[in-house]
Amino acid sequence: MAEKRENVVMFPFMAQGHIIPFLALALHIEKTGKYKITFVNTPLNIKKLRSSLPPNSSIQFLEIPFNSSDHGLPPNTENCDVVPYHFVVRLLEASASLRTVFKQLIEDIIQEEDGHRPLCIIGDIFFGWMAGVAQELGVFHAVFSGAGGFGLACYYSIWLNLPHKEIKLADNHFLLPDFQEASKIHLTQLPLTMSEADGTDSWSVFHGKYLPEWSKSGGILFNTVEEFDHIGLMYFMRKLGRPVWPVGPILLSIENRARAGKEAAGITPEFCKAWLDTKPQNSVLYVSFGSMNTISPSQMMQLAKALEVSGKNFIWVVRPPLGFDINSEFKANEWLPEGFEERIRESKKGLVVHKWAPQLEILSHKSTSAFLSHCGWNSVLESLSYGVPLLGWAMAAEQFFNVKLLVEEVGVCVEVARGKACEVNHEDVAAKIELVMSDCEKGKEIRRKASQVREMIKNAMKDEKGFKGSSVKAMDNFFNAARTMRGQAQKQQNGRCT
Ligand code: UDP
Repeated sequence: MAEKRENVVMFPFMAQGHIIPFLALALHIEKTGKYKITFVNTPLNIKKLRSSLPPNSSIQFLEIPFNSSDHGLPPNTENCDVVPYHFVVRLLEASASLRTVFKQLIEDIIQEEDGHRPLCIIGDIFFGWMAGVAQELGVFHAVFSGAGGFGLACYYSIWLNLPHKEIKLADNHFLLPDFQEASKIHLTQLPLTMSEADGTDSWSVFHGKYLPEWSKSGGILFNTVEEFDHIGLMYFMRKLGRPVWPVGPILLSIENRARAGKEAAGITPEFCKAWLDTKPQNSVLYVSFGSMNTISPSQMMQLAKALEVSGKNFIWVVRPPLGFDINSEFKANEWLPEGFEERIRESKKGLVVHKWAPQLEILSHKSTSAFLSHCGWNSVLESLSYGVPLLGWAMAAEQFFNVKLLVEEVGVCVEVARGKACEVNHEDVAAKIELVMSDCEKGKEIRRKASQVREMIKNAMKDEKGFKGSSVKAMDNFFNAARTMRGQAQKQQNGRCT
């Protein structure tokens, strides 16, 4: 008789930036053939997710009831991608109210499995409350971070200490009291929610309550690679006294992304590839600010001018600028310099893609030379997996710290600008594009390092007879720990019950 597969329960926060890395991890674990995966989320997200699974997948979805209207959210709000940014914190608060229902779901699973507990619960970084639930039920729990170690360490430390509020900021720089290895951070390297935080705002209150709960967890799985992200990983080991498992990069494959649906917008992968095929090797700059962010109208004008002045080939994913609805009709005349689209079409220098481009196909193409990115962690991992160096322009969350890591520690990035409000000068941007793409010493060095990182990543993911890369070993170590610690978690729980 086939051995019974142990249950791995996964529950990401309701945002595409969280659900997608969790889905990628679920598919990665499924490939081992050793585990049964139960993927928990709210009904509307599950509906979408069902259609994004490969036909032969055995991942099981479990709906957790959620009524957004009960939480002061518009009806049917089950994902950050359907509401303006100021609602995100309300969705976070609302998600914490799922504690009791989630506990009941796990109890039901245990009962259905004749008292057999799941092997582990893998929870979101925003679901600190889940570690306590797992502890109460004697189930092993790990946090899964779709963000990198360094970025998340800065994020964690700043929310828990708010150092920029305490310290006299003579030159607008500050150090993190428990993470000095990160070196100085400038006020402009903080996302708005952080720079405006005073300890009493909703973000500070939420994080103040739930981030410390991680110490009840068994450890943290990271979608990152130990070889270039160890400073941040060390921070969490020291801070929480718990193991970390850098298992990345775990990315959705091109086929699974196509199924996830969004690629329908903008441009077909075939058209994009055919356009890239006409360009010389290493000659194209790819520009995109991810799935949620956009720049201001004046920044958009300057960026367009910079692309023209640079004379480089480019693919630019343009979303309506700040102040316009994401679904508003594309207004080239208003948003871009006069005649911009016609000029680049005639010169065949550029491709302006509306809203969404097939990013993996672009980054993996030999004509692509560099990526001007907001440095969301998925984009960073994707770029580096293909050895493509970056031009960093962070917009929100931990992206600023990702840029800091890539510039100061890894050496594969040049910073272009910070945030959605800063002044941008097209000559300055064009000079930075030239720096990364040209044959000057600095450009060569950055590209050389990006190639080295690509090799590091390949090695980390290598699983061959006689050799396992660091990320493969970390995944093994995680499951070994889950098996060992499950016994302990169960004993502790039994102890509490007697
Ligand atoms: N993405 C894409 N095409 C686009 C914009 C984004 O395929 O035009 C994908 C990209 O490949 C990545 C994800 O969306 O996997 C964006 O994640 P990231 O962490 O970089 O940023 P976020 O969107 O969460 O800010």
